[in-house]
Amino acid sequence: MKPFEATTLYFNRAANHIELAENLRQLLLTAKREVQVQVAVEMDNGEINTFIGYRVQHDNARGPMKGGLRYHPDVDLDEVRALASLMTWKTAVVNIPFGGAKGGISVNPHSLSKKELERITRKFIDEIHDVIGPDTDIPAPDMGTNHEVMAWIRNQWEKYHGFHPAVVTGKPVETYGAEGREEATGRGVGILSFKLLDRLGRKPKDTRVAIQGFGNVGSHAAKFLNEADFKIVAISDAGGAFYRQDGINIQEALHYLLENNMSLRGYQEADRITNAELLALDVEMLIPAAIGGVITGKNVDDIKAQVIIEAANGPIDPDADEKLRNKGVTILPDILANAGGVTVSYFEWVQNLQYYKWGLNRVRQELDHVLSSAFEEVWQKSHEQDVSLRTAAYVLAIHRVYRATELAGI
Ligand code: NAD
Repeated sequence: MKPFEATTLYFNRAANHIELAENLRQLLLTAKREVQVQVAVEMDNGEINTFIGYRVQHDNARGPMKGGLRYHPDVDLDEVRALASLMTWKTAVVNIPFGGAKGGISVNPHSLSKKELERITRKFIDEIHDVIGPDTDIPAPDMGTNHEVMAWIRNQWEKYHGFHPAVVTGKPVETYGAEGREEATGRGVGILSFKLLDRLGRKPKDTRVAIQGFGNVGSHAAKFLNEADFKIVAISDAGGAFYRQDGINIQEALHYLLENNMSLRGYQEADRITNAELLALDVEMLIPAAIGGVITGKNVDDIKAQVIIEAANGPIDPDADEKLRNKGVTILPDILANAGGVTVSYFEWVQNLQYYKWGLNRVRQELDHVLSSAFEEVWQKSHEQDVSLRTAAYVLAIHRVYRATELAGI
């Protein structure tokens, strides 16, 4: 299923539940603006290569639009459109004053030199600088981008518009970045997993966990969960997965990752399995933290975990979601599960606007507060209205976005 079709189906399930009128669905589903640009750059060998860049600005009823920038070969307009709408619902669920946007370039960043990556980023900003800004649309990191890319974005945008670090978040901590931003999404996944299991009456030490994806989100989630006494039995990256029945030594795996150019290739301390086998492991909790669309109609019957935390965006197709729910699996939806990143991005933006810097403890405390409040609201709505956590999260989000639109007028 194409990503936008999937997010629209999830939206419509919640919209049906609250009997939202057809014209309002159309209003809330249509992006405000979709930009596609040519990114032509000179490569290190002197050849000119042309890439396609996208920025979709979905909704700004609740505040400036906010969303990451993804560098990945599979990026296309449909995917960016889906991810932009997810950002609108995500910022609304955690109730921070932003709308939703997303961007991306169809490129494999691992096949580029650092200089090529920088030239592509700067050229992309040349093409879209007039539609982004601290009060309109604020990019951030996503798959394939990091704090260095954000520093280039800031620098390039400021060449046109002057000093304003709040134009982008996820910047290096030394230059207007926030303490705790890099760990925030994974840490949020950890905080929310802990809360959910507590509500389900399960204990961390009796919970075996498999995590797909050991990048920014997966590795920080693993670190947090490991420290909270969960037993992580499997981890993976794009090159394959690793399983150890007695639990993986996460400190050691993180060390290996850092020493090995952020790859698990060659890791010897666990058995090699495939990413498909990881998803089907006999564990209590499964955390897809890599790419979208990994649990579908094809492999849903193999899934044995009773709890799934959607750390990645859109990892479960709607038909698989329905089957899992009927089987009694509890799913913490992406728009809540991975909202820790955008929440700390919001803190970074606030600090930039005030020219004031918070310490790490404050960031962590405020993150915990925002995510805990959102979790309680979603949990309560789900039980009051006898709907899944996903539908409950969408119902809350749609209501907030619709209400802001209604109050402002068209
Ligand atoms: P990343 O690039 O740091 O890491 C991605 C990880 O997934 C890597 O380990 C990579 O090897 C692995 N991977 C890639 N393709 C794979 C495949 N086909 N099968 C298995 N593993 C594969 O990216 P990230 O920032 O950790 O983002 C991961 C997910 O979390 C994405 O869906 C992203 O949209 C979502 N997310 C990220 C943030 C954030 O702050 N970084 C915030 C919200 C949501």
